[in-house]
Amino acid sequence: MAMIPKETIEEIRQRCNIVDVVGAYLPELRRRGSTYKCNCPFHKEKTPSFTVNDGRQIFHCFGCGAGGDVFRFVMDYEKVDFVTAVSVLAERVGVEIVYEGGQPDKSGNKDVLYKLHTDAAAFYHRMLLDSPEGAEARRYMEERDLPTEIIKDFQIGYAPQGWEELLGRAVKKGYDPEQLEAAGLVVPSDRNGKKSHYDRFRNRVMFPICDQMGRVIGFSGRIMNKAEKGAKYVNSPETLLFKKNRVLFAFDKARKPIVESRQAIVVEGQIDAIRCHQAGLDNVVASQGTALTENHAKMIKRYADEVILVLDSDAAGLKAALASSEIFIANELSVRVVTLPEKEDPDSLIKDKGIQALTSLIKTAAPAIDFLMDTLSGRDDMATEAGKMRVLKAAIGLIVSSPSKIRQDNMIKAILRYGNYSTVVEELRREHVAKQAIKKKIEQVNAVVPVSKTFPRQEAALIDLLMTYYHEVHPLLHDYLPPHLLTDPTCKKVIEVLMLDPPESITEQFHDLDRDVQELLYARDKVMKDAKTDSKTIDDSMLPIEVAQRYVQLFWKRFIERESIALVNNKSLSSEELFIERSRIKQDLHALSKGWEDTQPMLEVRLHKDIEF
Ligand code: ATP
Ligand code: MN
Repeated sequence: MAMIPKETIEEIRQRCNIVDVVGAYLPELRRRGSTYKCNCPFHKEKTPSFTVNDGRQIFHCFGCGAGGDVFRFVMDYEKVDFVTAVSVLAERVGVEIVYEGGQPDKSGNKDVLYKLHTDAAAFYHRMLLDSPEGAEARRYMEERDLPTEIIKDFQIGYAPQGWEELLGRAVKKGYDPEQLEAAGLVVPSDRNGKKSHYDRFRNRVMFPICDQMGRVIGFSGRIMNKAEKGAKYVNSPETLLFKKNRVLFAFDKARKPIVESRQAIVVEGQIDAIRCHQAGLDNVVASQGTALTENHAKMIKRYADEVILVLDSDAAGLKAALASSEIFIANELSVRVVTLPEKEDPDSLIKDKGIQALTSLIKTAAPAIDFLMDTLSGRDDMATEAGKMRVLKAAIGLIVSSPSKIRQDNMIKAILRYGNYSTVVEELRREHVAKQAIKKKIEQVNAVVPVSKTFPRQEAALIDLLMTYYHEVHPLLHDYLPPHLLTDPTCKKVIEVLMLDPPESITEQFHDLDRDVQELLYARDKVMKDAKTDSKTIDDSMLPIEVAQRYVQLFWKRFIERESIALVNNKSLSSEELFIERSRIKQDLHALSKGWEDTQPMLEVRLHKDIEF
């Protein structure tokens, strides 16, 4: 996707005075006291309630509630998305946008990008096979033991040394530099204020990366000479086609063998995967050094029941193995882990000892839970209480990631083979189940409430309070108001974000936030107005912390009231249980209607103190 760097956005914002911009669209905008006014362009009206505030650089309509900053105005007025609004304003003030990850419009065409990748792969491949410039690369292939047959199979290539080798040829063929930029094949540069481009991949062996259908969508380029500076591998950036967390190298070739064996073998490097395929082990894909994600797991789950992780035996490999195991297990795949002998990778192992060396390691590979117990108990002292707890907590973390009770039980049995841990394990599992239950209950209870399009007034007001008096009220809200208590998903999200980071840093991350969260923050002006009118909950004489306490009480009260409604509909409770729950609810509501001194202890009980949300 086309991304505009944050600094560029800020620069444009600095240079665009909102009064000038709105004034250009609405010539009737007139100064009235401290603000500018005219009839609102977003709803029909006879007397002006549309205002533009020069000092705060925002607009706001008291009639229809429209409001936001200069970008919002252009988005709403022109009915365009954020990126387009920014580029409209950039043009107005003469700021050049250098997109990250591709130009939006003329190169936004996937077909062109596919074609471009096909052509580029063919060009690199030809250069490796028979060009004079490719001689050193051919020698390198020989040195790495990658014969012509494999080079052709994987369409391996060579990107020549020059700065405009691919660029020049592609432009001659009728491609735009912007299209090449969107494909990540060239890099933009600013030469004496004039935009130009140069080849991203220079003097590298090129491995095309394909999607599941075998279409080239990106490249990984390897340096040939250790002495040369630069990263060992340079990969395509994220583009419209290339999404790192959705690609696995060689997946197109491995798919059928994976389906047939119901097993996928995941190695790290592309040369490792190529070597396996060459040796006839063809249900192998490579993660290419990136962390495995949920998307990768889903891709594999479609075809396989089991994953074999073949990872480096260093500390980083170990950490990666554990993180990946959790993701795969959560997606109902069985996971076994192969640890390679020190300093070996699949490529070197196969070359030194033959494919049997690897296949026998795969055959005897330990299930992820045993791998975890083996490695962690080797690293931590299981004889001390603290060491034992650390290892078992990690083990339980892995176990509970599985959605299947049967698999969980099997993994627990595996742990018990390591020692007499059943009491601790049961306790840890119970603790986890309790946390989950509370989380689930809150979600269920909240689901009773229909989600409104406008933001619930008091939830929005709470956000405003938190943004204005962050340091005063954050600790209290952090301790006593789980974001889940809010019913509006956007408000909830904003509170979650604010629990982690102060508002200043949110402004910095603004453009990374979800669209709906941006919307709410844009609408903050409106929110503040609503907050002021929330006189039922607050009055002017209250301190921010007191207001926050009121809100905590209010949201808990609403939550518990919803809980009470849910109780009536819950048929699974016995009348005795129902009675106990009811009286608990009654007591809690009573505590909430009194001062904070009464509310606080009750909430601490509710929140289990040690149970985090
Ligand atoms: P080779 O055998 O060519 O040295 P490798 O696969 O053994 O390659 P590793 O250093 O083990 O190399 O890295 C594993 C994988 O991680 C690589 O295949 C590559 O996909 C990725 N990788 C390595 N270094 C980088 C880098 N500097 N930038 C991006 N990706 C990298
Ligand atoms: Mn290697």
